[in-house]
Amino acid sequence: MSEQAGDQASDPPGNGRVALVTGGSGGIGRATAVALGQGGHRVAVGYRRDRESAEKTAAEIDGLAVELDVSDPDAVDAGFTRVEEALGPVEILVNNAGITADGLILRMTDDQWRDVLSTNLDGAFRSTRRAGATMLRRRFGRIVNVGSVVGSTGAPGQANYAAAKAGLIGLTRSVARELASRGVTCNLVAPGPIATAMTDALSEKRLGEIVGVVPFGRMGTAEEVAEVIAFLCSDAASYVTGAVVPVDGGMSMGH
Ligand code: NDP
Repeated sequence: MSEQAGDQASDPPGNGRVALVTGGSGGIGRATAVALGQGGHRVAVGYRRDRESAEKTAAEIDGLAVELDVSDPDAVDAGFTRVEEALGPVEILVNNAGITADGLILRMTDDQWRDVLSTNLDGAFRSTRRAGATMLRRRFGRIVNVGSVVGSTGAPGQANYAAAKAGLIGLTRSVARELASRGVTCNLVAPGPIATAMTDALSEKRLGEIVGVVPFGRMGTAEEVAEVIAFLCSDAASYVTGAVVPVDGGMSMGH
């Protein structure tokens, strides 16, 4: 047994841990906040624009809605400070905030590239750096990054998004190696097609093509992703780190 295993703070009974879910106002983030709240954690529901939805979710689980735009370094710092003041230091961080700005590579603008990298990859870096300091001191932490099957397979029209999601794998594994000795785990879930506002934006034809290569032959639900994230955030997942966990109905088998 490592010496750290004995040093880790155990789960405070009935009180849960302090969790922050970025992009908690949307599909997968919302479902994750609810799953963590139902698991007894005190959850901060991060949002960029959709305050109403974040407040509604927070009310459901007796949590806290927090404005936190991950593409803005000052907003990340302010958001974390707000959570620390209201709930305490963040022990569970779910880097879920994400956007798409699709376009074929020859026509992709610098703004499309930068915006997607800034939110989907830089945002996770900033939040992890901010949370990591207190996790190290407490010798406990759970970080889960929300990647995508596309981070391994690529997708036409999504060079920016795939690059960001592939980058998250490197971030995850590096952080996992750096922080393991302090009881902090860092893992990545890689969802396949999930029914949320993000996929609502796709045409019927494109959705049909995507679902056609999913062995289950259907899209996943946000709750199906949230359950896996909640497990990785739990004390039960204490020996899992640096893992890339597909939640994709079998779509990425072999990658
Ligand atoms: P939604 O569009 O439903 O939700 C996206 C969420 O991200 C919203 O809460 C939005 O907040 C938030 N967000 C966007 N930009 C920022 C920002 N700069 N700072 C903070 N929050 C931000 O999408 P999903 O729930 O589907 O996506 C969640 C994650 O899952 C993303 O990382 C996505 O890439 C990933 N994913 C999704 C898949 C799918 O098929 N749906 C497949 C694979 C991965 P607000 O509304 O308040 O602006």
